Amino acid sequence: MGKPTGFQEFNRELPEKTPAAERVKDYKEFVHPYSDEKLNQQSARCMNCGIPFCHSGCPLGNIIPEFNDAVYRKNWEEAYNILSSTNNFPEFTGRICPAPCESACVLGINKPAVAIEEIEKHIIEIAYSKNLVKPVAPLIKTGKKVAVVGSGPAGLAAAAQLSKAGHSVTVYERDDYPGGLLRYGIPDFKLEKWVVERRIQVMEQDGVKFKCNTEVGKDIAADELVRNNDAVVLAGGSTIPRNLNIPGRELKGIYFAMDFLKQQNKRVSDTKFEQEEILATDKDVIVIGGGDTGSDCVGTSNRQGAKSIKQFEVMMQPPAQRTQHMPWPTYPMVLKTTSSHEEGADRFWGVNTEEFLGDADGNLRALRVVDVTWELDVMGRPMKFAKVEGSEREIPCQRVFLAMGFLFPQAQGMIENLGIELDDRKNVKAKEGVYRTNVGKVFAAGDMRRGQSLVVWAISEGREAARKVDEFLMGHSILESKDAVN
Ligand code: FAD
Repeated sequence: MGKPTGFQEFNRELPEKTPAAERVKDYKEFVHPYSDEKLNQQSARCMNCGIPFCHSGCPLGNIIPEFNDAVYRKNWEEAYNILSSTNNFPEFTGRICPAPCESACVLGINKPAVAIEEIEKHIIEIAYSKNLVKPVAPLIKTGKKVAVVGSGPAGLAAAAQLSKAGHSVTVYERDDYPGGLLRYGIPDFKLEKWVVERRIQVMEQDGVKFKCNTEVGKDIAADELVRNNDAVVLAGGSTIPRNLNIPGRELKGIYFAMDFLKQQNKRVSDTKFEQEEILATDKDVIVIGGGDTGSDCVGTSNRQGAKSIKQFEVMMQPPAQRTQHMPWPTYPMVLKTTSSHEEGADRFWGVNTEEFLGDADGNLRALRVVDVTWELDVMGRPMKFAKVEGSEREIPCQRVFLAMGFLFPQAQGMIENLGIELDDRKNVKAKEGVYRTNVGKVFAAGDMRRGQSLVVWAISEGREAARKVDEFLMGHSILESKDAVN
């Protein structure tokens, strides 16, 4: 705690953003940096709260009060060392994390929480600008070889940690560039791709090798990979999207969100794609689904020049205030208003789509929707919905993006070939805290194991799984444990 009275003197302030009308003209990030004075004031708001619940609110166990204190004292090296001791990639979480740490901030009980996420982004960007982010040479080389399948945040974190422990690490990625959803899911306006590329370069300097355009289970046999390595970490993500199998699904103009978003990310980075062009330009767009993927479709549709954008969510609108059922620190982070919504979209809650309607040429022309109400359980959780009689109506549109989440990883290929056991949700079965699958030296981390989640969880799982691999290979691990920090 740099300044004992800071939380009484300064209000929470977030950095300025480029106005919505301006920023939709391109795909660039639009959150400006704090001035030095503002950064100093915001870090001073972290108070001496006794038990910093932010530590456990953060899946990485980030040591937040300590780095806030170092920021207040302008000791950038110390701030960077504290932050990077628990988080391999603060430049990602500092930009796109929903910041569960802020929901758990004690100041948040009766004042707005400390702006932890922004402070984190400033620490890492200052560290890069001062050349503090350097390759980490391991103390010893163990002579062990580890393959990581998938280069999303889970695979990258596992690879970075395993390389730090002295193992030779190769990351296999079926896409043409590494990064997973950081590169080909999350749009540039949330995370510009030079940020991902900069980190990949640091990892390459650390000695991590990347083999792109290589699908394990197709371009390279999965059992061969297992045979040729001392351990394997599966971090292939949760890639099968939830479909909406209602009448009219075959009409032209209905796409999975990821097909739309991935293509636009490729367009921005001037990378080739072979599928038909999917564009929202001059179309009436409806996004079905209210999470991060849905809001990214809204932001992308706005930038492509959609005529109108509506977003439908079958759940009810969460309360604007905390309720009895959602006290501190469990205020919901989901279904929030994002920067994409500031740019323009009509949001509708408690709406269920029952049919896609087409014209004579098989093109989508409208949705038939109804309003729904939810039956809640004793804890106030939604259980099942019922149709509101008489609410049926048609909404004209020519584009629909399905953004209703992801079900589980692709089993065909690598998972089936290796005989990896799945859990009852069809994710790779490997106990949290253990990360080992039923197949001897094969471990799993990230969305492939826990189901669709968040970048911060993927990094956390990658780090924890790496420690388990290190223990498996060496009998003990020199890698930090998040439990030891908190
Ligand atoms: P992924 O990032 O999915 O990476 C898996 C990688 O494995 C992919 O590159 C895939 O090509 C590769 N792969 C799979 N199988 C193979 C194989 N057999 N051989 C070789 N390679 C393989 N989270 C947030 O915290 N904040 C956000 O703002 C946010 N926005 C999101 C927006 C969208 C559109 C989506 C879809 C998700 C978003 N998320 C967000 C969630 C977050 O991106 C994921 O939870 C996270 O990326 C999961 O990381 P992962 O490493 O487990 O998997």
